Amino acid sequence: MPDYTYLIVGGGMTAAAALEGIGESDAAETIGLIAAETQRPYNRPPLSKGLWKGKPLESIWRKIDDRRVTLHLGRAARQLDIAKQRVTDDQGTTYGYQKLLLATGGSPRRLMFGGEEILYYRTFGDYQRLREWADADQHFAVIGGGFIGSEVAAALAASGKRVTMVFPEAGIGGRIFPRDLSDFVNDYYRQKQVEVISETMISGLEVRSGKRVLKLRDAHDQGERELTVDRVVAGIGIRPNVELAQQAGLEVKNGIVVDRSLRTSQADIYAAGDVANFYNPLLDQQMRVEHEDNANTMGRMAGQAMAGQHVNYDHLPFFYSDLFDLGYEAVGETDSRLDIVADWQDQFKKGVIYYLRERRVRGVLLWNVWEQVDAARKLIAEPGPFDANALKGRLPV
Ligand code: NAD
Repeated sequence: MPDYTYLIVGGGMTAAAALEGIGESDAAETIGLIAAETQRPYNRPPLSKGLWKGKPLESIWRKIDDRRVTLHLGRAARQLDIAKQRVTDDQGTTYGYQKLLLATGGSPRRLMFGGEEILYYRTFGDYQRLREWADADQHFAVIGGGFIGSEVAAALAASGKRVTMVFPEAGIGGRIFPRDLSDFVNDYYRQKQVEVISETMISGLEVRSGKRVLKLRDAHDQGERELTVDRVVAGIGIRPNVELAQQAGLEVKNGIVVDRSLRTSQADIYAAGDVANFYNPLLDQQMRVEHEDNANTMGRMAGQAMAGQHVNYDHLPFFYSDLFDLGYEAVGETDSRLDIVADWQDQFKKGVIYYLRERRVRGVLLWNVWEQVDAARKLIAEPGPFDANALKGRLPV
């Protein structure tokens, strides 16, 4: 039986960062990693951004020291025995550990229909499949107006494909962007030749004469119509992979609950990344974050904690995205339902959006404004009260 000092379940960015964290702390111990994907750990953001703009494929792989880490790829961990400190995978192999990290991430939410005809875009395998489709096919439906939907639609359109986006909100990124900005983004995508069908749900899919026929249902009048395309890609959110933790009796509440040292309710088991539910002192609330900075920073700290260092994960992670030539960074609670103060230097092209609750800044969106994330975090730490006058010009645009 393979027996490791440190065992990591999961092979994503969080796991790769944890290896770095362990590596820095303790050079003598044994490390094992079990991952369902057959690829070595890679950076996920380029799958929907850089790789479609000419970034070389080789650049996505994370550096892992094979002399120190044993990779068990293409295996899903199925059972966790807390008392015996063992994990068993889907091929029946059992692994021992002294410290365990659950970096199991999330799985795409799926529609009730369509089966394999819909590509729920998340992994390197999905990237390869979409590339093959893009080489052969012309018209793509992209379901979802969130991160995956907006980035994949832009990538396909920039590759000369005909793209139709369908999503339930009024505008692209509507859960984050205020309504006027979201309307602008709809128009901007339309200018880039993307057909944008908002406030619309998908209610079925059929394959007819080699094409995919989607049934669309208008959210207002419930009227139905059909959309015929070559291929269908979707990003309709993820669910955290908590099954292993749940079955083992760890505390799970919208993710695996961890304390500030990234320990779960079991002292020798840690969790980090998309799957972890943690307390953020700046916002004074529990959070679960599905973005790169959180995966890397939290993963690294989990590795350090496993290797015996004292850590406090009090980091407020930022996130970013590219929408054709527009780009942004954001931090905190960026929920379009909060009170919003927009400070535009050039409307919808360059500016700062402040998100407030009870006159306190909870989040900041830096729209084509760079290197202000730390300043935004400091502002979130301030007690306020703030109003539009106090905030305009507060962060340099
Ligand atoms: P998301 O939550 O960003 O967006 C989900 C979208 O799907 C929303 O528009 C939502 O309304 C729509 N949707 C939900 N149910 C639907 C349904 N039944 N029919 C049609 N549309 C529906 O999730 P995502 O885009 O799938 O991204 C997955 C994860 O990957 C997220 O956690 C995201 O944070 C992460 N990600 C992050 C980045 C980034 O940080 N730039 C980029 C890509 C992905």
